[in-house]
Amino acid sequence: MARYTGPVCKLCRREGEKLFLKGDRCYTDKCAMEKRPYPPGQAGKKRPRESEYRIQLREKQKTKRMYGLLEKQFRGYYELANRQQGITGENLLRLLEIRLDNVVYRLGFAKSRSEARQIVRHGHIQVNGSRVDIPSYRVREGDLVQVAPKAKDLLVIKAAIISSERSTVPGWLEVDIEKLQGSVISLPTRDQIDLTVKENLIVELYSK
Ligand code: SF4
Repeated sequence: MARYTGPVCKLCRREGEKLFLKGDRCYTDKCAMEKRPYPPGQAGKKRPRESEYRIQLREKQKTKRMYGLLEKQFRGYYELANRQQGITGENLLRLLEIRLDNVVYRLGFAKSRSEARQIVRHGHIQVNGSRVDIPSYRVREGDLVQVAPKAKDLLVIKAAIISSERSTVPGWLEVDIEKLQGSVISLPTRDQIDLTVKENLIVELYSK
């Protein structure tokens, strides 16, 4: 599946907030948002025009970029969320959260979602004992997500574990760091999704 391969710090600067796309670097003063907290480009420092459409668009772009998705994939999640029962915005965030790459990131086995995606793609993750190398795989309640036995000594995973000590695992997941595994206690509710996203704006944008 295609993915964005350009400079990621520009994405944070475009959205005007940290999207935490680079792991450890995001927590240091090397972060581009610390040094240049204005949009990239010549007109970066000029105050952009605020319109309803622009606000909705930025919210959608921000969310899409946080999860490392392209427009077509993100739109697909919206369409699915819209067909589900319940509040579309919440459905959308839930669908994004239960992606396997996001779960690996949330469990602390990767420093960023893009790193988690690589780890999954390379076959280092098992779900209920079977290898799953599809980052968009949707976990279910009761699933057991594990680092594959052969991958337990990978430096990238060890470094992520050390780095993840500063973050907390969301309430819908339970992690066993010793065993490098985590379980999905339940599917996430909105209050368990720690995101500064106004999902209603995304729904308003797409439902025009
Ligand atoms: Fe964003 Fe991280 Fe780059 Fe800072 S270091 S601008 S938070 S990706």
